[in-house]
Amino acid sequence: MNRHEAIDGIVIRVRDTGDHDRYLSLLTASKGRITLLSKGSRSLRGPQMAVSQLYTYGNFEYYRRGDFYILKGGTPIQPFYALSLDIDRLNLATYLCDVAGEVSDEGEEAEELLRLLLNSLYALSRDLYPQELIKAAFEFRTAAISGYEPDLHACARCGKAPEEDLYLDVMNGALLCSECLHRGGMTATKVRDDYGEIHEAELLSPLTPSACAALRYCLSAPIERIFAFDLTEHEDLHAFCTAAQSYLLSHLGRGFDSLNFYHSMRESSAPKKER
Ligand SMILES: [Zn+2]
Repeated sequence: MNRHEAIDGIVIRVRDTGDHDRYLSLLTASKGRITLLSKGSRSLRGPQMAVSQLYTYGNFEYYRRGDFYILKGGTPIQPFYALSLDIDRLNLATYLCDVAGEVSDEGEEAEELLRLLLNSLYALSRDLYPQELIKAAFEFRTAAISGYEPDLHACARCGKAPEEDLYLDVMNGALLCSECLHRGGMTATKVRDDYGEIHEAELLSPLTPSACAALRYCLSAPIERIFAFDLTEHEDLHAFCTAAQSYLLSHLGRGFDSLNFYHSMRESSAPKKER
């Protein structure tokens, strides 16, 4: 007799197999990432169809057969339908789920990451905050959760905490002030948005005081409040977003097709939205 189990999780990836079946990658709090085989979920009558969709957060019932976990049924808790109403939201959701899949492991608890992902998708689906802000806060906190928490208290070389002209030293997870930068005969490497261009050992992302404060906030805020800050000036938001993305991608050592796709669609749709 197979023992049935149930677990709450969110579908972060689906991969179709055969004519009717689908593998679901779930992110869960207690077991990290797990993969379930959802049999018949692609036919309209499949009893598991309701919980076999991407971005569905739900309770999943399954049993083990050999090396596989087979989905038996489940109940959606939060299907995030509103994500599919807007192409940019959907593309960003794909990227956030890809990142969550990359930094999670099978059998390793992922409670904080799961709560961060759920809060991000909720904010995204309801348009509660600017997409750039949601994305960057998610990226920076995810880096910290994954063991790359930077020290943003003061300049790592002189110990001063000047209000202006700070840089995020991406590879060392530290701050650098402009005095130390120039004293060391260094020049700031311009951080490129495209990860493919990043190949410098010294990546220094320029920060405004507000952007630096926002990065600090993202590290310490309760997950439920992580987006509750304002960056109204374009310069501040840009510095914050560039630093967060560079920081995460540099430490993961990879880029994401879903991220490139999100950026390319945003660029191509931006002029239309302004009209
Ligand atoms: Zn310094």
